[in-house]
Amino acid sequence: AREALFQAQKIEALGQLTGGVAHDFNNLLTAVLGSLELVRRQISDERQLNLIDNAIKGASRGVSLTQRMLSFARKQELALQPVAVDVLVAEMGDLLQRSLGPLIRIETDFPADLATAAADPNQLEAAVLNLAVNARDAMPEGGTLRIGASNEAICSGHRTGLPKGDYIRLSIADTGSGMDARTLAQATEPFFTTKGVGKGTGLGLSMVHGMAEQLGGRLLLDSRVGQGTTVEIWLPVATTAATAELAHLPAETKMET
Ligand code: ADP
Repeated sequence: AREALFQAQKIEALGQLTGGVAHDFNNLLTAVLGSLELVRRQISDERQLNLIDNAIKGASRGVSLTQRMLSFARKQELALQPVAVDVLVAEMGDLLQRSLGPLIRIETDFPADLATAAADPNQLEAAVLNLAVNARDAMPEGGTLRIGASNEAICSGHRTGLPKGDYIRLSIADTGSGMDARTLAQATEPFFTTKGVGKGTGLGLSMVHGMAEQLGGRLLLDSRVGQGTTVEIWLPVATTAATAELAHLPAETKMET
């Protein structure tokens, strides 16, 4: 129980820190963007316009990043909607392959009748990218990343501990180094990393875990040293009732920008 409390306090502190920093950055970047737009209107030289446009693009990307940090820090800022997980992964294809490098093969396996999940597509994309980068780090000599999903109907007493209902099991499996029992047990803790200073933040899996729990789903890890790791994200299916219930959440607590 003390462990759980400690864990909850760490997450709370992390949320406050992230939220505070993201909020300040968001304000600063908005001011920078405003000034750039003003300057842009007074310029006619093409080369200077290009430079300003690059700066605007960079600052805009910064804004969308800080908003993602804000949505991590505050649960209610999830933008829930029905998400076709197979389409989301397909659209990430190039980004994933570029992040993984030439030594890692991506295999996907989605059934034609895959249901849509109730999720925040931006967060889910960030989660998949996080897991892919972890997989890459575990496969320095190359290997295979398998991304697949299936429809699952859960009855009571299921191994996930999830309540009865319809879910999508998104699974991301690598053929990398795997984790020993100790590492596996701590992997989702915030700030736990085996990657060394300046390399790992130890926040990837804890963020994915937080997202899954917020959505009413689960994050499950299975790993074998020398064989690889399978990460499962269980997401509730976007039934009409569930989406109706979830859909009013973000509207009520719209994000401050
Ligand atoms: P980070 O990647 O910054 O270390 P994470 O929270 O994403 O933070 O991961 C925590 C730790 O869990 C990693 O440092 C690594 O030891 C282990 N881990 C995560 N994903 C994998 C994987 N696919 N294969 C092997 N180990 C992993």
